[in-house]
Amino acid sequence: MRYLIVFAHPEPRSLNGHLLRRGVAALKAAGHEVVVSDLYAMGFKAVADGRDFPERDIGARLVYHAESGAAYAGGSQAPEVAAEQAKLLAADAVVLHFPLWWFGMPAILKGWVDRVFATGFAIGVPKPGTRQWLRYGEGNLAGRRAMIACTTGGRAPQYGARGVHGPIRDILFPINHGMLFYTGMTVIEPFIGYRVVRASTTEADALADAYAARLLGMFDAPPIAYRSENGGAYDEEQRLAPEYGEGEGFSLHEG
Ligand SMILES: Cc1cc2nc3c(=O)[nH]c(=O)nc-3n(C[C@H](O)[C@H](O)[C@H](O)COP(=O)(O)OP(=O)(O)OC[C@H]3O[C@@H](n4cnc5c(N)ncnc54)[C@H](O)[C@@H]3O)c2cc1C
Repeated sequence: MRYLIVFAHPEPRSLNGHLLRRGVAALKAAGHEVVVSDLYAMGFKAVADGRDFPERDIGARLVYHAESGAAYAGGSQAPEVAAEQAKLLAADAVVLHFPLWWFGMPAILKGWVDRVFATGFAIGVPKPGTRQWLRYGEGNLAGRRAMIACTTGGRAPQYGARGVHGPIRDILFPINHGMLFYTGMTVIEPFIGYRVVRASTTEADALADAYAARLLGMFDAPPIAYRSENGGAYDEEQRLAPEYGEGEGFSLHEG
């Protein structure tokens, strides 16, 4: 299988760097192909702005979404954006690997999503012959497995159902559902290393072994059962029909 790991940590000697190296080594030892987009090492531009469109009229008002679609369709995207899209299309498994920063991904990884998930590629993909979009379970990245791998400073109970930080399932929902599932990928449970900030060498190695095992098992893991947008559960306003649950919240979107 072909794995793409998008890695967002500024320090290669970090614990996350250790996890990455061990994970990549385990995948390669098992015969898999691995591509790592090490965003800090690449100097990946984190901000989405007009410089992403080399051929645009710089005097015109920037409408990023529209400009993104025109550049994607016209083959005039920034080369590093097109290269990341090609890596995604070539992958069977996609891993977003990052330390949790302010309850989300580091800005460099958010910028990677903003820029690489272009209009026509990851968003704004029409379903032929309908007025629907290919998203939430369908899209150009369908057929790929996806997983978040992240570490936290906070302890696991703080991220539990009644934990002070809020449930980790909710914190990661915008990434799992709004980015990975949105673009058609099959999302599996995240790999999370809690409270790693004082990890001993032994603990770090155990976590690295657990990460390697999760990477190797990505194709056997049960998917998170998000509901597909065009699967019949949502009405014409994309609201979940009442028979699928009452109330509100992210968990309603899991079947
Ligand atoms: C801007 C910012 C925002 C943050 N926001 C949040 C948040 O919202 N929620 C939250 O829970 N946490 C938050 N944190 C904490 C953050 O998630 C952790 O600092 C991060 O997950 C730790 O991962 P690391 O790879 O940077 O660890 P490191 O600091 O590199 O390492 C952690 C420990 O592992 C030890 N270690 C043992 N063996 C090894 C080895 N072989 N290689 C490397 N290190 C080893 C190191 O010595 C160190 O003590 C935030 C941190 C920052 C900087």
